[in-house]
Amino acid sequence: DTTYDILIIGAGPIGLAAGLEARKAGLSYLIVEKGCLVNSIYNYPLNMTFFSTADRLEIGGIPFPSIHAKPTRAEAMEYYRRVADKFELNINLFEEVQHLEPIGEQYHISTNKGSYVARHVVVAVGFYGIPNLLHVPGENQPKVRHYYFDPHYYYRQKVVVVGANNSAADAALETWRKGADVTMVIRQPELGSIKYWTKPDLENRIKAGEIKTYFNASLTEVREREVDIQTPEGKLTLENDFVIAMTGYQPDFSFLERIGIKLTEDDKRHPQYHPETMETNLPNVYLAGVICGGMDTHVWFIENSREHAVKIVQHIVQEEKVAQV
Ligand code: FAD
Repeated sequence: DTTYDILIIGAGPIGLAAGLEARKAGLSYLIVEKGCLVNSIYNYPLNMTFFSTADRLEIGGIPFPSIHAKPTRAEAMEYYRRVADKFELNINLFEEVQHLEPIGEQYHISTNKGSYVARHVVVAVGFYGIPNLLHVPGENQPKVRHYYFDPHYYYRQKVVVVGANNSAADAALETWRKGADVTMVIRQPELGSIKYWTKPDLENRIKAGEIKTYFNASLTEVREREVDIQTPEGKLTLENDFVIAMTGYQPDFSFLERIGIKLTEDDKRHPQYHPETMETNLPNVYLAGVICGGMDTHVWFIENSREHAVKIVQHIVQEEKVAQV
């Protein structure tokens, strides 16, 4: 059996960045990804534009040319695919890592397809796999969507969009423009964090009454043809075809706990790692990318977490040198 220097869990931008660094350092590595390449980006809304400019999405110092300042989902997939190809990154796709077990100085990693041995493990599993649920009756119906994809689908449909941030704003504006009857339900008294070029558009649609919006309100029940909303003026029942719940996502904490990474006890659930080396409480197991924030999923993004890959590989190389002396 091959023993890899590094096994990287997740082929998101940061897992790929770790692969590039390992390759540069001449270390053997394998990236194991449960879905397709850059699976999270693949599952973004079809027409999504990044809030970051192209240069800030680059990994391994490889230029990301984009004519517009902010690249689209499709351009990002093109970029990361070309990078993986050009550098012949060693990636197993559609293979999910399930367990990690220390055996002496090494780790035994088991997946749904096989098992591997590695001396170091990089956990770059992101947070887009598990939606924050509303916890209301009827939420399990197929008409309730926690991932929004294409606005055309909602043409002439009565849509409720739950949430106050970027994803909710995009879903509300896009579906409204493609002929949906849109109502936003927002728990807070005002709109939340929305891209500066999108916010005025939404504010104007709300002012004009084109997108109906209830602030300080929450969805309380979903039924086949209707929804209930609790507003400051009392309970409302609206006719409804679809609910798009843009209430955020959370890391797979049970996976982190299962493999032995410690999380803080509070509701932030920050995973434990050393800020300089990125090493967790498990020796030679590192964290990289947006997963580092726990429930604070907005703290880390590509431009400020791609350097995790560099730090980790530097640390591994230094440790190897020390071990050889
Ligand atoms: P991810 O890209 O989430 O990659 C993690 C990977 O691990 C996934 O492919 C997942 O399938 C895989 N995985 C998980 N568990 C396992 C397992 N057990 N076994 C194997 N594989 C596993 N960030 C920006 O910097 N700029 C932006 O403009 C931006 N826009 C965003 C817009 C939206 C709609 C969303 C949801 C996020 C946005 N982000 C943006 C955040 C962005 O998703 C992250 O910055 C980026 O994807 C983080 O990369 P990552 O590699 O840490 O995690």
